[in-house]
Order: sequence, then structure tokens, then C-alpha cells
Amino acid sequence: MLKLSTRLQRFRTGSPLSFRLLAWILLFSSLFTLIASAIQLYTDYRQDLLQIDNRMLVVETGYSPSLSRSLWALDQTLLQTQMEGILSLPDIAHLRLRIEPDSELVMGDIPRHSTTTSHSFELIHQGDEKFRLGELTVTADLERVYSEMKQKVGFILVTQFFKTFLVSILIIWIFQHFVTRHLSTMANYARKFSLTNATNPLRLDRPDTPLNQGDELAQVTDAINHMRERLNEDVARQERDAAEIRKFSKAIEQSPSSVLICDRQWCIEFANQKFTQLTGYDANTILGKHPGALSDNAMEHRETRHLWQSIRLQVQRVGVWQGEVNSSRRNGERFWEQLIVTPIKNSDGEATGYLILGEDISIRKRYEQQLLRQANYDILTGLPNRMLALDRLKLALAQARRENSLVGVMFLDLDNFKHINDTLGHDAGDNMLIEAARRISSCLRGTSTVARLGGDEFLVILPGLAGLEATSQVADRILTTFQPAYRLNDQEVFVTTSIGIAIFPTDSDNSGTLLQHADAAMYQAKHKGKSSFAHFAPEMTEVSHERLQMESKMRRALELNEFELYFQPIVRTDSGALYCAEALIRWNNPSMGMVMPDRFIPLAEETGLIIPIGEWVLYEACKWAVQWRVITGTDIGVSVNVSPRQFRDPHFTACVMSALENSGLAPEQLELEITERLILDNTIETAEILKQLDANGIRLAVDDFGTGYSALSYLKSYPFDTLKIDKSFVQDVMKEQEDASLVKAIINMAHSLGLSVIAEGVEEEAQTHFLQQHGCDYSQGYFYSRPLPEAEFETWLRTNHRVQA
Ligand code: C2E
Ligand code: MG
Ligand code: MG
Repeated sequence: MLKLSTRLQRFRTGSPLSFRLLAWILLFSSLFTLIASAIQLYTDYRQDLLQIDNRMLVVETGYSPSLSRSLWALDQTLLQTQMEGILSLPDIAHLRLRIEPDSELVMGDIPRHSTTTSHSFELIHQGDEKFRLGELTVTADLERVYSEMKQKVGFILVTQFFKTFLVSILIIWIFQHFVTRHLSTMANYARKFSLTNATNPLRLDRPDTPLNQGDELAQVTDAINHMRERLNEDVARQERDAAEIRKFSKAIEQSPSSVLICDRQWCIEFANQKFTQLTGYDANTILGKHPGALSDNAMEHRETRHLWQSIRLQVQRVGVWQGEVNSSRRNGERFWEQLIVTPIKNSDGEATGYLILGEDISIRKRYEQQLLRQANYDILTGLPNRMLALDRLKLALAQARRENSLVGVMFLDLDNFKHINDTLGHDAGDNMLIEAARRISSCLRGTSTVARLGGDEFLVILPGLAGLEATSQVADRILTTFQPAYRLNDQEVFVTTSIGIAIFPTDSDNSGTLLQHADAAMYQAKHKGKSSFAHFAPEMTEVSHERLQMESKMRRALELNEFELYFQPIVRTDSGALYCAEALIRWNNPSMGMVMPDRFIPLAEETGLIIPIGEWVLYEACKWAVQWRVITGTDIGVSVNVSPRQFRDPHFTACVMSALENSGLAPEQLELEITERLILDNTIETAEILKQLDANGIRLAVDDFGTGYSALSYLKSYPFDTLKIDKSFVQDVMKEQEDASLVKAIINMAHSLGLSVIAEGVEEEAQTHFLQQHGCDYSQGYFYSRPLPEAEFETWLRTNHRVQA
């Protein structure tokens, strides 16, 4: 009994569902069995009672006439026999015969403890008239019926119990076998299920028949496996997403740009390493703060609030804000950063946060500012350069237009600056320019602008002029400040300036034209005699126009073969015999006529055209010198003038050598005349180039000696062969005692340095005597011959006695 209860208990805990099922089956099947059995028993009982009732009726109908007869006949024996016959019938236990009028006959016993049923009927004699004889009461005992019923109940209960029990067990077994054991498998599977074994599918221990495939268990198994697969997929996707997120977060963390991520309210949620590096703010200390309010400095907050308001507005409207911001680091240091601010949107397109990328552009900014300075300011003097000057001029004009006022534009050009630069060297020239800039600036008030346009040209802008005469006053002031000597290379040098003035709007309302007009006026001032100023007048435009025209004509002159070489003989002073010839260029222009070098060489030097022109001269000169030997049978050297500008051409030496090679002229037949100014120009590797030329056997001469500032002793360090005394000294040797002594001294000193001397500009015979007397080696001048076109020079060579074979 105990074993059974523990088993049941175990069954109950092990398979509660089966247990419950069993309990319900037992309950209901018992209930149904009981009801069915009760109905059955009741029906049987009713039938038994009916049988007894029928038996009573049979007694009435069957025995009534015979009993009546026996009574009528008063046959007691028969009566008794008849009653015993009735009493022997089944279940009849007692008979009572009441005989009229008052006797009674009783037979059998009424059972004391069992239930009975009685039936009475009258005994009547049917003669001519009816005669009531008595009444018989038959009593039946129901004991048998009840005992049979008890037996039946016991039997039914026992058989039904066993049937119910067996059926339940069978159902439970079936249920266990087909359902609950699989449910347990599922439960175990689910219990043990984890991401590590998520690849094993759920399998039930049953054959894979078509019947099984479609049932509920198969559906649940499929659903679980499906769920498992989806879970696997989800996990794989999550892993991929996580890897992706890790990658992105690493990228953001290690990004070379600083990265801030803010929430919807612009509170910082994340800052990367670069941000900390750049700003000095630790990421943890700024979380939750606004990117424009990192420092504790309230001043800075006010500064940035406006900026961040406009950033927020633009990001909302346009979707991005980009710009350069002057931010401050934690230590207060300012730096420039390039910011890009964009919203971070969710899949519905709503901004859920903001991304702020920053890059330190301080270095770039510094370069930009430097470039801007370089682009706008002159490095040497620190003054605004041409570009900035033009900008300022335009601004001044715009303002003057609004205010209806006058603007003065002054164009300054230092007089003879080129000369200073060439003779004293570029360093001295630079110092001179710095000092000149300082002096000009000192004459002006706050709103005026002084700019260096380039070279020795300055521009002064005078806005808000009271009247025309105001410009003259300023010009006078400037000219006065230029009067004191400049100290350059320990020498006192006097430099003046020429000023051209144009007025807005009187002369022009356009900045470019105003400049041109001021330039033209400046040329006029130079023309007037240096150290003066001139106001613009309409007729002046022609002069500057002419300059422009000449430049464009000169550019085409080489192509059109408009240049021509003239040659002037240089002779021995003592004998008058031909020594060599100097090549002098002429420009034969159809519209301008014969243009002398003094008029176009400076312009050619300015524009750089002197390089191709100089090359042409060299080739031509060498070519003709070779030709002269053919004519005269003797070597006649040629002198070629070279501009300092040509020395700056890196191909200059190569060009000279190629001219010699090309013509076949011997190097010692070529003499290059270099002005004294060149030697003092430190910026060119003059000494080096001269050495190269000398090493190649080419002769070198100092031209126009005496006009520059060089000391004779200075020439010692250069490989010169010849010195040409400038014609300004030679011309006056007979009139000016000073010049005569100077020429004598130059000749002596040149000789002591081993140089031969040529006197230029000899026009009179007396001069030849003087030069002869003082040992000047060679002479050149109109006295011997003017410079002649090549053809005429050839005739001169053929016919002149000074040419010796
Ligand atoms: P320079 O080299 O001193 O040349 C001498 C100048 O004096 C020549 O003037 C010549 O015509 C002039 N002259 C010669 N004898 C007399 C005289 O007795 N009295 C006067 N008053 N003048 C005389 P030009 O031909 O007008 O040349 C002027 C300057 O142009 C030259 O001065 C030279 O520096 C330059 N030049 C000429 N041709 C060239 C050239 O091909 N290249 C370069 N770079 N410069 C050249
Ligand atoms: Mg010369
Ligand atoms: Mg000369």
C-alpha cells in the first residue's frame, strides 16, 4: 500500500499532467459509471416490482372465482388448499382472508425486517344477484428483490471500477508514450538550450512517419527549431552588428579628427581621444555639458553662445554647418579649428543627436595669415602692397561716393633710385627704400594709406580731402622730408622723389584710371626736373600712353627686324690707328623713326626685353667683326654693351660663348662693356660671371667710368682689361681744370692697376692732344667718326687711312 502511494506521488511529481489526466479520467468515468449503474439498477428494480404486481393480478384473476366458489360452498379444505397454492407462489409471504361477516383466515407470516407490498381483492358470488363473500389481502415479500439488487450493485461496481482503472492506465500510457515524454524532451531541450549549443536542433524520439509529421508535436518542434534558427540568425546579426559597432567606435575613438557626439539637447555624450588631445578637456569631465560651454569662463560662454545659436539654426535648416572657429583650450590658449556639425538621424529622419567633427587648423591658419600678409604687404617695407593698395583705394572711393568727398591719389617714384641700386648695391637700395617708406609715412595722418607698388614706386591714398590744395601740401611735406641726406654704406646720398597727383572724382571716378593718371602726372613731374610734384592734366595721358605703345612695339621689333647696329671706331690715341669698334644699337621704327638707345634701353631693361635684344646684338656684332677681317685682312675687335639685367640671365655666359662659336670670332676680339653700376650689385654673382668670361679669353671693359660711386681700387678684384672714361669728363678737359686733373688721375691709377684706358666723347683735336700727353691709350668720339651704319662703317674701313692691314 505504501509502495503504491509513493509510486503515485512519484508519478504525480514526475508527470503532473498525466497525473491530472488520470485523476480527471478516473473522476469522470467513475461518475458516468455510477450514474449508468444506478439507472440500470433502478430499471431492474422497477421490473422486479412490476413482476410481483403482475403475479398479484394473476392471483386475483386466477384464484378469485375458485375461492369464491369454495367460500360459497363453505368448503374449508378446498379453501385451504387453494390458499396454500397461492402462498407457494414466489415472493408471496402472507395471505389474509376476511370472510363475511366476521371471520378471518390468515396464512403465512409478514416478514418483520423486510419491505412488503400488498394487494387486496373482493370475493363475490355471482348468482342472480351479487353477493359479497369476503376479501383476500395478498402480501408479497420484497426481500429477494432487494438482495438481488445488492448483488448486482456489488458486481457492477467492481467490474466498472476495474474497467475504468484499466482504461485510464491505458490512456495514461498512451498519453505518456505519445505526448508527455516528448513534452519532457522539449522541456529538457529548452532547459539545456543556450547560445553555445544553439546549432543542435530539437529532435523527438519517434518515427518520422507522415502521420507524425503533421501533428501538434511536430508543429511545436518545428516552431521551436524555427525559433532556434531565427535566434541563431539574430545572434549572428547581432555579432556582426556588434563587430561593426566596435569597428566604428574604434575608428571614432582613434580618429585623427576630434569627435564630439551630443544628444538631442546638445549635451555631450561622447568625446574621443583626439578631442582631449586638442582641447585638454578630459572626456569624463565634459559629459552632459554644451560644446560651447566647456570652460568655466563666463566671458567665453557669452562669446560662443551666439555662434552656437547660429550653428544650431543652420543644422536644423540646412542639415550641416561648416566653418572655422577660434576655440580655446582648457589652459585658455586659443587655436583655430575647422568644425563640421551634422545631425545624427534615426530611420525616420529625426535628429536624435549631433556629430561635431573638429580639426586643428592653427598651422594652416598661420600660413594663411602669413600668405595673406605676404599677398597684401610688402615684405621689405611692411607697407601694403599693390593688391591691398588697390583694395583700399576702391574702398576709399566707395566711401567718398557715399560722402560726396574727394580722394587724392599720389604716385611717387624715387629719382635715380635705379642708379643707387646699381652703384651702391641692392642692400643699400633696400635700406634706402625702407627709409623712404618711413619718411613718406611720417608725412601722413591716420586715415591715409601708403603702399609700395613695387621697385621704387609708392602710392599714397588721401581720403576725405578738404580741397585740391591739401594734396599739394602733403606733396610738399613729402618732398621736404626727402631733403636730408640718406646714409648708405657709410656714404651720404641724396635721393629725391617725383610725385604725380590725381583726384577723385575730378580726374576720374575709377580706381584704375586714377592710378594711370597719377602715374602720368608723376612722369610729368620727372620731366619738369626731379624732386617736384605735378597734378594730373588730361594731355598727360598721351605720355604714358606713348610708353605703353613703345613697349608693345618693342616686343615686335625683333621679329620685324627693326633693330640695327651702328659701329663707332675706337682708335689708338697716339697714332690714330684703328683699334676696334663699339657696337651701338638703333631702333628703326616706321612710326617713331630712328629711336636712340637712351630712349628705349631703360624700357627694355624694365620689361626684360633687353635679354633677347642683347643676344641679337652679340650675334650680329661678332658676325660683322669676322666680316671686317675678310675686308681689311686684319683683326678688328668689337665692343658690345651689356646691361646689368643681362647678367641676371643664367644663360648669359653660354649665350656669349655661342655667339663666338657661331661666328668664329676669337674671344680676345670681343670686349664686353659693363657699366660701373653692375660691379656694385651684390645680388648678382657678378665676380663669378666675369671670371668665367675672362677665363674664356673675352676682354672686359668698365663703361662710363666716373658716373657711379665706385672707387678705382675697387676694380682691382675684378678681371677688367679696359676702363672707359665717361664722356662727361672728357668733354670738359680743356675747360674745367677739375675734370682735367680727374682724367689725368684716372689714367694714372688705371695704368697702375694694369688697365688700358679709353676716352669717350672726343670731339675736338685739342682733346686728343691732352689725352696723348697724359698717356690715354685709346680714344673714341665724333672727332674720329660718328657711329655709322654697318654698310657705311665698311666703306669707312675700306677708305680710311687709320685702318692698317
Ligand atoms: P655708351 O656705351 O657710353 O656709348 C657711347 C655713346 O656716346 C653712344 O651713344 C655714342 O653715340 C655717343 N658718342 C660717341 N662719341 C661721342 C662724342 O664725341 N660726343 C657725344 N656727345 N657722344 C658721343 P648712343 O649710341 O646713343 O648710346 C647710348 C648708350 O646706350 C650707350 O652708351 C650704351 O650704354 C647704350 N647702348 C647702346 N647700344 C647698346 C646695346 O647694344 N646694348 C646695351 N645694353 N646698351 C647699349
Ligand atoms: Mg659703351
Ligand atoms: Mg660710355
